[in-house]
This record gives sequence, structure tokens and C-alpha cells, in this order.
Amino acid sequence: MHELGIMSGVLDAVDKSAKQAQADKVLKISLSIGVMTEAIEDSLRFAFEALTEGTYMEGADLEINMVEPRSRCLECGKEFNHDRFHVLCPECGSFATELLQGREMQIDSIEVDIPDDVSNTSADSTPTGSTNGDSSASADVGSAVSLTD
Ligand SMILES: [Zn+2]
Repeated sequence: MHELGIMSGVLDAVDKSAKQAQADKVLKISLSIGVMTEAIEDSLRFAFEALTEGTYMEGADLEINMVEPRSRCLECGKEFNHDRFHVLCPECGSFATELLQGREMQIDSIEVDIPDDVSNTSADSTPTGSTNGDSSASADVGSAVSLTD
């Protein structure tokens, strides 16, 4: 299953960030997944549940933002949304296009629970880049997930 590979890469990255923040529980994971990756949201959720069962990520809130494909026509410059299968400029009919978005496999943010911290709350997911692990309960990992397939 394609989604299992994607989710496995995602969880590796989440695990790294959560450990860096000395978290004992992952509360929420927000992802952006491009439609052109051919990943199906339901399958991603299924893979997530299978992979996190019995781990400190089990039960985390999984937020998946599916990114619609968008391309720019190399002939006339028009930008347009399209589906996975039909990339055709609606303006001039050219197939010469450049994909602008839709291949994302990105972690937008994660929320973790950090033990022994009185000020610990479930901070919201504003990407701050703070992973220093003391009072922050939000770790920004904002990077693309690398896959080995
Ligand atoms: Zn065009």
C-alpha cells in the first residue's frame, strides 16, 4: 500500500521531532498531502492507525489537508486547477504545463504532550520552529517528508 510508505515516512519525522521535544505523547499531527501523490485520505488514516497502534502516537488527532493540483501553462502563462488525470490548459489547450502544487508530502505541525511541565498546554499549531523542549508543546517540523521508494 502506497499510503503505508508515506505514513511511515511521516511518522519517522514526527517521532524525531517529538523525541527532540522530550514528549511522552503525540496529541495532534497536521499534514499537507498533494493529490498528485495519489494518496487517498482514508488509506492514510488507516495506515496511521495501523502504524501507531500501541505507540505513544496512538490516538493522536490526524489532520490531513489534501492539496489540489495546480499548474501553470508554459504557452500562455495561465494558472489553473485540475485533477490527477487531466492537465490541459483551459485557455489555449496546451499540454505544456508546469505543476505548481499537488505533490506535497509535508508535515505542517505536530502537538505533543511534555511531562513534568506546569505550563504545559496543548499549544496551537502555529509553526514557531521551537523544538527546544522546555515549555513548548508545539514542535514545528515544517519539512517535506523524504521517502525511500
Ligand atoms: Zn495556455
